Amino acid sequence: MRRISVFGATGSVGQSALDLVARDAGAYDVVALTGGRNVVQLAKDAQALGADLAVTCYPECYQDLKDLLAGTGIAVAAGPAAVAEAAAREADWALSAIVGAAGLVPGLTALAQGNTLALANKESLVTAGPLLLGEAKAHGATVLPVDSEHSAVFQALVGEDMTAVERVIITASGGAFRDWPVEKLATATLAEASNHPNWDMGQRITIDSASMFNKAMELIETKEFFNVSSDMIEVLVHRESLIHAMVGFNDGALMAHVGPPDMRHAIGYALHWPERRTLPVERLDLAKIGKLTFEAPDAARYPALALATRVMEQGGLSGAAFNAAKERALDGFIAGEIGFLDMSRVVAATLDKMSSQTGVQTADITLDSVLETDRLARIYAGEAFGQLG
Ligand code: NDP
Ligand code: MG
Repeated sequence: MRRISVFGATGSVGQSALDLVARDAGAYDVVALTGGRNVVQLAKDAQALGADLAVTCYPECYQDLKDLLAGTGIAVAAGPAAVAEAAAREADWALSAIVGAAGLVPGLTALAQGNTLALANKESLVTAGPLLLGEAKAHGATVLPVDSEHSAVFQALVGEDMTAVERVIITASGGAFRDWPVEKLATATLAEASNHPNWDMGQRITIDSASMFNKAMELIETKEFFNVSSDMIEVLVHRESLIHAMVGFNDGALMAHVGPPDMRHAIGYALHWPERRTLPVERLDLAKIGKLTFEAPDAARYPALALATRVMEQGGLSGAAFNAAKERALDGFIAGEIGFLDMSRVVAATLDKMSSQTGVQTADITLDSVLETDRLARIYAGEAFGQLG
């Protein structure tokens, strides 16, 4: 039986993964499941799948989880260190579907086993791509992309030589505000930003899709994962979200990956890789769909994209500063402290400050330097809230 673990099991990606696992439960020995506040779901899944260990990242949720699993024989633990310990438990395949920079340490810990890590947690690649991939290399571990665009690129590259790749195009739906007048964006509310036109995802990534911070993160993720330069990566607005990415080759061919907007495809591909197995996703009827549309992204509408280009060009710890500032700005928007367009202004101000004062662009990427940059960037981003005109 294949030993598997899922970190962030109670979230949108985590639940899609457990849906696939539950359909063939006899094939898997579930080692560890981790979650956060949703301990009811975590306990239910841990029992249904016979997990050895269930962990909540919040110490204050420990007692509830313990009570829910009393008498089941399933071990229970809580706190960030316990999540990392869960990631240290030997598993053949682990999925990191934690949201935010909190996914970095569990991901690094899992990689040290030298097995396979399926990575939905894009923040860890944006924050510390070279560290994470260096750790994978050092331990002979495999990292598989789960973000739909990156899974699509990965699939388009099977059997190809990277030297023949000219460009990588990742698509974007345009998010909740793609048809809003740009002048109106400043007034966008939390409820309006939390409504994605095509994908059903966690709240944070849905808001990041409206602001295109999600695509900005994915640009950096593409650069890190596939080791391509920033000028080879393009964003294309594609409203239907059916083509997830395209790879352009030196003979002019574009290999496009087309599929329904259902994360179970990318998760399933990573779960069964290098094989393809039957997956419970919709089969597209292209004649019915009729047409697919493409537009260049509007830089004025999506300032996050230019920030990503800046981060890719600056390098060093710029990604760590960018991600942490974005997370703090997003917290501020969710809490009603700042407006929708203020998020990119806060991130820009934080990058300015950290580039000129702390030299993030030239710093070495170690776990300590990443965590310190993350800590400082959150402070500077919070300070920037008060300086918005
Ligand atoms: P969700 O918010 O739905 O789920 C996040 C998961 O992480 C939950 O299990 C949550 O627990 C847990 N969690 C929250 N905070 C922490 C923390 N500090 N430490 C450990 N665990 C924590 O997110 P998504 O599933 O939408 O996204 C997960 C990751 O996958 C993100 O990096 C996202 O960018 C990426 N991704 C998501 C896609 C999607 O379709 N949703 C598509 C492509 C990538 P709980 O809910 O119990 O509190
Ligand atoms: Mg994506």
